[in-house]
Amino acid sequence: MTGKTLSIVVPVYNEAAVLPELLDRLEAISGNLADEFKLAVGFIFIDDGSSDDSFSILNAHDFGPRPVRLLQFSRNFGKEAALSAGIDAARSADAAVLMDADLQHPPEMITKFVRIWLDEGADSVYAYKVSRHSSEGYLKAAASRVFFWVINRNIRYKIPPGAGDFRLINRRFMKALCSLPESDRFMKGLYGWVGFRQVGLPLAPAVREHGTSSFGALRLLSITMDAITSFTTTPLRLMAMAGIVIAMFSLVYGLYVVIETLFFTGVANGIASVLTLIAFFGGVQMIFLGLLGEYIGKSVQEAKKRPPYILAEDISRKGDVVEDR
Ligand code: UDP
Ligand code: MG
Repeated sequence: MTGKTLSIVVPVYNEAAVLPELLDRLEAISGNLADEFKLAVGFIFIDDGSSDDSFSILNAHDFGPRPVRLLQFSRNFGKEAALSAGIDAARSADAAVLMDADLQHPPEMITKFVRIWLDEGADSVYAYKVSRHSSEGYLKAAASRVFFWVINRNIRYKIPPGAGDFRLINRRFMKALCSLPESDRFMKGLYGWVGFRQVGLPLAPAVREHGTSSFGALRLLSITMDAITSFTTTPLRLMAMAGIVIAMFSLVYGLYVVIETLFFTGVANGIASVLTLIAFFGGVQMIFLGLLGEYIGKSVQEAKKRPPYILAEDISRKGDVVEDR
């Protein structure tokens, strides 16, 4: 053994149907990793307040000599919080792999991640989805493009489009993530923010075989709003710029109206155009105020400094020894 350790971190929310297959495939891949890279692999599962038997299935499973940590949240806190808890728990390992439980992230790809981490010294290796269209439909793909455009106006770091949470991160990467104090954690953004040397690998996303995605259109919209307001103030700047453009336009138009009235026939009095303008600018102002409110709401949330999650159970298994904490 080279003595290097790898923790596989899996957030689990109502995944009882896939867990048996996931556990089999994880076990197989962990054996391969030990043979090929002399890695000691451990698992960390975070049950994000599942209402099905996910936690009892994990708790009853025989992991043999493999070190396993089972965390259970006191309620559903969301995938981002679950990932944060997993990274906190994994930080003593040399690297962690973050993956979904639903088998849309093929465990077999971990081998490729590990090879690039060990051979090329990458700090993080991530999978990015190649064709979003086939698996998600055009609307979702277009929305995602707009999202990445807004968020990547920033010049200092980029969030690669299509990159998801399926990735390997090494110890210093984990340390950097753990040092970020915000309680609202949009992980895909944080990975980009911390920097380091990151390598992307293409992945054709598999179709979810059991259950349904817990992220419907409305939930995605709200996540998008959260992500944008926590990662960039570009919309605020766009608001100000729109204000400047509209003000300049009104100034020029105002002058035109004055000159027209003084020296020419005067402006025809059309109530329709006035009403349209009032309605239009009223609408624009409401949108901008709402956006401003989002940012203020975000600061209020963060000012409370609440922890991102609360643990109900924390079970550590090192082979046959079980210690409850
Ligand atoms: N998940 C979670 N908490 C949630 C929703 C999802 O921990 O509130 C987990 C879920 O069990 C899965 C992963 O996050 O392991 C991705 O969830 P899902 O497949 O629903 O999302 P998608 O694949 O559509 O991004
Ligand atoms: Mg999924």
